[in-house]
Amino acid sequence: MTTQPAPSNVIRPTLFLDIDDTLCLNSPLTGHDALLALRATATDAEAPGQSEFWSSLFHRLSVDVLECVMREHRPRVVITSSWLLHFDDQMLKAVFHRTGLSSVAESFHDHWDAQQDRGMTRLEAITRWLENHHRGEPIAIIDDIESGTGLRGSHMDRAGCVILCEPNVGLHAQHVSAINTAFGAAHRFRAASR
Ligand SMILES: [Mg+2]
Repeated sequence: MTTQPAPSNVIRPTLFLDIDDTLCLNSPLTGHDALLALRATATDAEAPGQSEFWSSLFHRLSVDVLECVMREHRPRVVITSSWLLHFDDQMLKAVFHRTGLSSVAESFHDHWDAQQDRGMTRLEAITRWLENHHRGEPIAIIDDIESGTGLRGSHMDRAGCVILCEPNVGLHAQHVSAINTAFGAAHRFRAASR
């Protein structure tokens, strides 16, 4: 009789996730609106229009694509976003739950954020995280061509780990094959290689 490995023994990949221009297209709702809405629901859980607000905050097609990725690969999620300036982990989890991405809210990595210090590129922030926390698992980075500074042409990009979205488009179905490839590319990626 064979025994399936316990889920805790399975190496889960790590997904670095940006928010603006990957999920939130800022047209018209933005992170600032989300911050105000969270404060409103903290005082009035039945505030009218809340459901419509949260279903409009993120681009629905992008939510559907990310949900498929979460279901397929069960990655642990590290947030790499300017939203880190204003949202803590509990606030971000509330946002993901309310926007239909409970799978993300429930998959935060123990080290769930890759903070970008002033003057630091997104590449440098992710590299620092990897140096401290990477355990050889496959990684994928979902960002966009504007906020994903330093990522294009980097060693991570050359290893097939970087998915750069377009502003006003966000994450879409044609990115899925690249994400699948990234999560299958552990043998080609080494955190120490530059
Ligand atoms: Mg962005």
